[in-house]
Amino acid sequence: MLEKIKWLGHSSVKIEAEKIIYIDPWKLKSNQKADLILISHSHGDHLSPADIKKIQKEDTVILAASDTLSQLSGDVRPLKPGEQVTVHGVTVEAVPAYNIGKLYHPKANNWIGFLITVGGKRIYYSGDSDVIPEMKAIKADILILPVGGTYTMTAKEAAEIANLIRPEAAIPIHYGDVIGTLDDATKFQDLCKIHVEIKPIVSA
Ligand code: ZN
Ligand code: ZN
Repeated sequence: MLEKIKWLGHSSVKIEAEKIIYIDPWKLKSNQKADLILISHSHGDHLSPADIKKIQKEDTVILAASDTLSQLSGDVRPLKPGEQVTVHGVTVEAVPAYNIGKLYHPKANNWIGFLITVGGKRIYYSGDSDVIPEMKAIKADILILPVGGTYTMTAKEAAEIANLIRPEAAIPIHYGDVIGTLDDATKFQDLCKIHVEIKPIVSA
């Protein structure tokens, strides 16, 4: 499964499993159509209606944080933290994503991360979040975590939660564009006691 997860830069991820799943598509260079699009919150580097249009087809389902709906069209289904749906055979559970002691991502906004069960694996995409108490109960095979700091957890904090959850592997994101550098990704890798894959940015 790890090799089927592609990093499209910043927070933008594509999972090429039985279904094509995009998470927070942004600055896309390809227009491979999506079966499922997941949108964590309404910040411009995560919610891009223009990019979503590029990959939307007739039966694409969009699962999105509630405050994004006015900017989206098609089969859009709002998800709140704690809600779970199965679409096209892929189970997606929305989990809370928020900051502690910073104002960028208030808990009250009901913004979300995702636990995605596909191909027999559970993939956790935390969204723009700090390390929050709810994360300690998460069980997942693969973690996709922000490491750039400022708006999200830092590389060190991400490594701490990764070492607690103990997945098979983790992938660092949310660096290299708006915030954070490759140094944050390598620091995360150095501090993790599990396999960390620093993905190249792919354009397709
Ligand atoms: Zn954000
Ligand atoms: Zn962000």
